[in-house]
Amino acid sequence: MKYTDDYIVAAGEVGYDLISFDWSLIDICNYSCTYCSAGFGCSSANEKSRFYKNKNIQESYKNVLKMLSLSSIPEFEVSLVGGEPTLHPNLSDIIISLDNNKNCRDVSVVTNTSKPASYFEKLDSLNASKLSICSSIHFEHYKNTDMNKYLYLASLKHINFEPIIMLHDDTIYWDDMISACEQFLTSNIPFSVTFIEDNQYYQPHYTDTFYTTFSKYINTSTDNRYTFKSTSNTYTLSRDDIHRNNLKTFKGWTCTPLLWLIDVYGSIKNACTFESSDIAFKNLIAKKTCPLNQCSCDIKWKFNKYK
Ligand code: SF4
Ligand code: SF4
Repeated sequence: MKYTDDYIVAAGEVGYDLISFDWSLIDICNYSCTYCSAGFGCSSANEKSRFYKNKNIQESYKNVLKMLSLSSIPEFEVSLVGGEPTLHPNLSDIIISLDNNKNCRDVSVVTNTSKPASYFEKLDSLNASKLSICSSIHFEHYKNTDMNKYLYLASLKHINFEPIIMLHDDTIYWDDMISACEQFLTSNIPFSVTFIEDNQYYQPHYTDTFYTTFSKYINTSTDNRYTFKSTSNTYTLSRDDIHRNNLKTFKGWTCTPLLWLIDVYGSIKNACTFESSDIAFKNLIAKKTCPLNQCSCDIKWKFNKYK
């Protein structure tokens, strides 16, 4: 792997040890983005959903909360995802429990924000100090009136509102994407961006024109600095640099993969090795050989890895 003709031999943050859980609360979504890696772009995905048909699945969150409250678990952050997590009937209870969990540092609800503002007012009234609402803006479903809701949510007192611009490669969505970025900049609302990753349903093609048009927004976004090292240089790179230079292939490198996935049944597996967590969470932090062809997300880019 090279950056400006320099061979990269290490990446991520040395000493980084914060566990991240991505918890899929529900296997159903009310949107159908064509690029959805979970397959909700196909009409059959929601038909396969087990959540509303199975009481055990609906109740599995209680076991997960118990597991996450074990004293043996290291400090962690958790993202509540789906499907669409706001469709889970017990989302408020889950947030309160995690907010009271002393090993939990942050709770993020990653939502398509399709619920009305009144729904988020109720989450705000929970007064949960660790709560962020990460609002993924999917431009295939975007309406001009949505911006008023985002601006209102940003004004709520107790939740930290974080818009995420889903960067679509299709030019028909670019005007709306630009308009949303400009509105957040004008309103001083920090936002981040996410690239669509290759998956079995969608292969994005980001052109040079795309980068020329959107670099300024990608580079003004928050949480946008990642470390890469050669034998003689240290580079601090943005998402833009990483995608343009395809600095996402670490297969065979030594890495400490700290992202764990919790599925709707409540089982916990490492997002990279697919190894299950042991009963006392003793194996959450361990060096592994990277088995994957792509290091696909910003959380993973923080994990320390070397050749
Ligand atoms: S909102 Fe998210 S989960 Fe739902 S279809 Fe779109 S990408 Fe998939
Ligand atoms: S894909 Fe996983 S194991 Fe591989 S480098 Fe990225 S975080 Fe580490």
